[in-house]
Order: sequence, then C-alpha cells, then structure tokens
Amino acid sequence: MTSGMEPNYERMLLEEIEAKNQLIEQLRASEAGLLELSKELKLKNEALEKVAITDQLTGVYNRFYFEKRAQEEIERARRYGSPVSLVIYDLDFFKKINDQWGHGFGDEVLKRMASEVMKSIRATDLFARWGGEEFVVLMPGTDQRHAVMAAEKLRQRLGRVLHPTIGRVTASFGVAEHRYGEQLENWFTRADRAMYRSKSQGRNLVSEWQDQEFLTEATELAWNPEWSCGNAVIDGGHIQLLTLANSVMAVIQRDEDLTQISEVFDQLLSHVEKHFDEEEEVLRAIGYPSAAFHERFHQHLVMKGLQMKKRLSEGHVVKADMILFLVDEIIVGHLLTEDVKFFPWLQRSGAEG
Ligand code: GH3
Ligand code: MG
Ligand code: MG
Repeated sequence: MTSGMEPNYERMLLEEIEAKNQLIEQLRASEAGLLELSKELKLKNEALEKVAITDQLTGVYNRFYFEKRAQEEIERARRYGSPVSLVIYDLDFFKKINDQWGHGFGDEVLKRMASEVMKSIRATDLFARWGGEEFVVLMPGTDQRHAVMAAEKLRQRLGRVLHPTIGRVTASFGVAEHRYGEQLENWFTRADRAMYRSKSQGRNLVSEWQDQEFLTEATELAWNPEWSCGNAVIDGGHIQLLTLANSVMAVIQRDEDLTQISEVFDQLLSHVEKHFDEEEEVLRAIGYPSAAFHERFHQHLVMKGLQMKKRLSEGHVVKADMILFLVDEIIVGHLLTEDVKFFPWLQRSGAEG
C-alpha cells in the first residue's frame, strides 16, 4: 500500500519526462526557427549580392561586376593563352528617343534591347551594362574574328526589334580581342575606339579594332584656347605637353626605330613629371579640395608611363597603345577631364598669374 506521504515516483518520472519532452520540443522549434532564420539570411545575402552586381533597370550585370570578371578573364588568358574578346555597343540616337517619347519609353527600350541580347549570347559570355545606353559583352574563348561575327548577329537582331510606339532602334558596335599582357583599361579603350568608328561611319555598324588603321588615322593634336586656365606655368606645361605628344606620335607614325622613339618618349615623360610637380604645387597653394586625389591620379599616369617605357626598352610595346596612352590618358584624361575641374578654383583664387 502506498501512503499519501510517499512520493509518487512514477508520476514524478512521467512529469519529468513530459518536461524534458517539452524542452526538446522547444529546442526543436527554436532550431527550426534558427534554420528558418539562416535560410532567410542566406536569401537576403543572395539578394544583396545580386543588387551589388546587377543593374537595377535591365537586370544584367553592372560595371562593377564586369570589371571584376574581366580581370579574372585577363588572368586566365595570360595563364592558358586562350583568346578573349570584348564587344561594346551603344544605342544610336538614344537622346532623341528620350526627348521625343520620354524617359519611361527610353527605359523600356533599354530593357527590351538587353533582354534580346541575353537571349542570343552564349552561356559563357558575360553581358553587362557599362553605363547609360552603353553595354559590353565579354566573350571568353573567342578571338576577334569570331567576336565580330557574334557582334554582327547581335546588331542584326537588335535592329529587327519593333518597339511599341517607337519603332526600330539600332546600335553601334566595337570589337577588340585582348592582347597578351594588356590591362583592362587599354583593352576597353580599343573596343570603345572601334565603336566610335562605327558611330562616325554612319551608326548601326560593327567595327573592329585594328592597329594599323588607328596608327594611320591618328592626327596631330592642336592646342585649343579653351584649355587655358590662366596660370602661365600650368598653361605653358600643357602646351609643351601637347607638342611633345605630337612629336612622339610623329616618330611612331614615321616608323622610326625604337631608340628614336624611346628618346622622344623619355623627353615627354620627364616633362610630364616636371609639369605634374608644378601643377601640384599650385593646387596645394590655392587649397584645391581634390588636390590629394589629383596627385594620386598623376602618380597613376606616371606609373603607366614608366611601365610603357620599360616595355618599349624590351621591344614589347605596341605602337598604337603608346598613342592611345598619349591621347586618351595624358591629353583627354588628364588635361581635358581632370584638370578642367580645377580651372574654376584657380580663377576664383586669383592665382592665374
Ligand atoms: P549616339 O548615336 O551618338 O550614341 O547618340 P545618342 O543620342 O545615343 O548619344 P548621347 O550620348 O548624346 O545620349 C545618350 C542618352 O542616353 C542621354 C541620356 O539621357 C540617355 N540615357 C542614359 N541612361 C539612360 C537611362 O537609364 N534611361 C533612359 N531613358 N535614358 C538614358
Ligand atoms: Mg548613344
Ligand atoms: Mg553614350
């Protein structure tokens, strides 16, 4: 017999088991909760990643991701010697579409054109929006000849699309195959140059980069009075820079031997370094807010110049690339893009003299 005082072990055990079961249940539930949470986090991370690498409007990759992948492809090409090409296209007369029909219609055209390209490229190609109405397709394992054929297919396909209200919209293409050891900047510039050739020859065309064509077409740079900032030292430096750039172009175009070219290029480089020093001094003196950025930009250009000089001495430099460097980076990038930003500061500070 059991008295009322005696503990009911069986019941206690049952209660304990019950409590444990509940705990286990709770743990399970929270584990499931955790799992749910981690799944959610994963999805959120994926979504974030996607936002970071895709273009919001068209859903194709953005410039950031393109640059990252292009660097990887350059590395792969270097290691395995496989070809890789770049196709660039820019929509024709796109400003008119916006002006005439409104930005919303313009956006629709951009989306439709992008989806059309998506449908017709290979799975291994990388398609991205470079910015505005300019797009790029990176084609691993494809040489220039085949990239031209692919671009031609894209051009035709885009030109056949009938956009509601607007009708047909065309695009101009540029193609360049990566050349061994080349940096992305230079490669991109060559494709972009080819694209501008398509524009200048009437649009809705595919053009490919060709060294010879570029070399023979490069013309002497003439000083434009609008490039004067009013400071005698800086303006003098820029005029001299232009003169020296023209001399380098001339010896290259005359196909002089490497020692001749090196001599003139050295003159240009030492002038560039001297001019940069002088310019930096003026910018610091007037308290130009982007002075530090501008100095880093100068360092980058000098570095590139020195690399080019080294490759020149080894006989590895491509002449067209030297001209591209001079025209696109030293003159257009430095003088016409970066320097003009400090012109207003200089004039306000009254340091023109
Ligand atoms: P071209 O044939 O020489 O390329 O002429 P274009 O009018 O296309 O060239 P331009 O560079 O003068 O004009 C580009 C226009 O593209 C200007 C800009 O308003 C428009 N654009 C750039 N990004 C977008 C965008 O995201 N949406 C819309 N709707 N328009 C854009
Ligand atoms: Mg355009
Ligand atoms: Mg444009």
